[in-house]
Amino acid sequence: MADKRDYYEVLGVGKDASADEIKHAYKKLAIKYHPDKNPGDKEAEEKFKEAAEAYDVLSNPEKRKNYDQFGFNAPGGGFGGGGFGGGGFGSFEDIFSQFGDIFGGGFGFGGGRGGRARKAGPPRGNDLQIKVALSFKEIFDGCTKKVRLKRYTPCTECNGKGGENVSECSTCHGTGRVRRASGGFFQMISESACPTCNGMGEVVAKPCSACRGEGRVQETEEISIKIPAGVSEGQYLNLRGEGNCGPRGGASGDLLAVVTEKPDDFYTREGDDLHCEVKVPVHRLVLGGTQRIPTLEGDEVQIKIAAGTQAGSILRLREQGLYPLNKRGDRGSLYVEIGVDIPKDLSKEEKELYQKLAELRKDKETAQEESFLDKMKNLFK
Ligand SMILES: [Zn+2]
Ligand SMILES: [Zn+2]
Repeated sequence: MADKRDYYEVLGVGKDASADEIKHAYKKLAIKYHPDKNPGDKEAEEKFKEAAEAYDVLSNPEKRKNYDQFGFNAPGGGFGGGGFGGGGFGSFEDIFSQFGDIFGGGFGFGGGRGGRARKAGPPRGNDLQIKVALSFKEIFDGCTKKVRLKRYTPCTECNGKGGENVSECSTCHGTGRVRRASGGFFQMISESACPTCNGMGEVVAKPCSACRGEGRVQETEEISIKIPAGVSEGQYLNLRGEGNCGPRGGASGDLLAVVTEKPDDFYTREGDDLHCEVKVPVHRLVLGGTQRIPTLEGDEVQIKIAAGTQAGSILRLREQGLYPLNKRGDRGSLYVEIGVDIPKDLSKEEKELYQKLAELRKDKETAQEESFLDKMKNLFK
């Protein structure tokens, strides 16, 4: 994969290309390098595959986002193939290095690759995608999320075989595919599944009644997904083999668990940093004091408010933000914007004190006001 070309370069479009531009660029290449037009031309075939792969990623907003972020050759390795449960997956980097396998495994264009008159065999199941909504607390700690999903699992009645008396399909001679001689663009770039056997390459004389010969049934299942600390919106975990199982014993697709961030009442996020606003009583800003701030650990820290702190000031608390992915690196900061808490429930005595204060400050404030007005007037002269 070392000499793989950048997908944008392959399609000859810019990084900010629209979906239409990408589609158009791909279509042009697909027509130019289509194997039917270039019989026996290995280079054209490679170019065709390369364009198909680039299109598969760039035409899918989720995949494109991840490609933009991590590329296809991110460092790392050793993704534990078992998925969750056994503490399977390591890091996003590891997972993104699996891109090659995804394509090889029949994602998108996979079915059309390299297959001549090979026997079909049961096809691989589809990949599934689910969203996993996480709070900042969960992102901070890392967590295990239970999610329910509907997916195909092997039929227990027929052990996934689909029934009895399974034999080769006579329409496609077991290849599962039939070629069409003419047609529009889409028929040009791929053969179609055999209508007799639905692409299976075989027919079942006595289909199982539980699964109607498909060898799989849809079930709602609950699974646990281990999420590492420091993930962010739009990133995903690729859980291998946790998608739909294929019909009649076909391999299972993958499950993409896409991270979304739950909105938080207090914090907003910027990379590994967090931002929040606290309202500080007006007298505390004037005289100085301390203010308590909640932390992601669930406790609190005290911050010092200097006398004369202005509303809108931002205080930085180092090491109070989020960790980077998998806690590899330093924790981010928490930026606290200081707001003013103006009391509305004054007692008689408090009101009198404010009035007294207003009296005392009258001259200074009048002078300030005048100098400001003068400045503004000069500005408009
Ligand atoms: Zn069955
Ligand atoms: Zn067939």
